[in-house]
Amino acid sequence: MTPPRKPKPGAGGLQFRIGYGWDSHEFKRGIPLKIGGVTLPHPKGLGGHSDGDVLLHALTDALLGAVAASDIGSLFSPSNPKWKGADSAVFLREALERIRSAGYTVANVDSTLILAAPKIGPHAAAIRTHVAELLSVTSDVVGVKAKTPEGMGTENAAIAHVVVLLEKKSSGRSKSQKEEK
Ligand SMILES: [Zn+2]
Repeated sequence: MTPPRKPKPGAGGLQFRIGYGWDSHEFKRGIPLKIGGVTLPHPKGLGGHSDGDVLLHALTDALLGAVAASDIGSLFSPSNPKWKGADSAVFLREALERIRSAGYTVANVDSTLILAAPKIGPHAAAIRTHVAELLSVTSDVVGVKAKTPEGMGTENAAIAHVVVLLEKKSSGRSKSQKEEK
């Protein structure tokens, strides 16, 4: 039998933490389509909880997961009328608060959207810029990719996968000082 290992340091001691989030919403006619906080021109929007912003929901869950916090559905219950039609940036802000109070900042984000239409390519830059603003990071650390759902039978849905990397905040030392070191 191997001797018991030394207990591992708590998660608060980790220099980096990763998080993963996933979400899907169904397209419905006659509502605005919001992805990453950007309203895209399309005859259908995403129904369901709040404004249906599939990318911000997956991102919120990725941030919460990175610090082993609750998930978006538990914090902002879809059955609570308060969140009906809500701006999903509210959920993201709460998740950011949680990672900051756990002592972390966002290092980078990557995402993949899976949807048949509209084409995301022409809007990807605007989505990256907006998501970066919401996260208070530069857009070169926010990846937004899109694919069509070949053979998945999900043509009437939008799906988002998001991964985030968090970095421990340096205490009492600015980033520029750290780089000069
Ligand atoms: Zn959602």
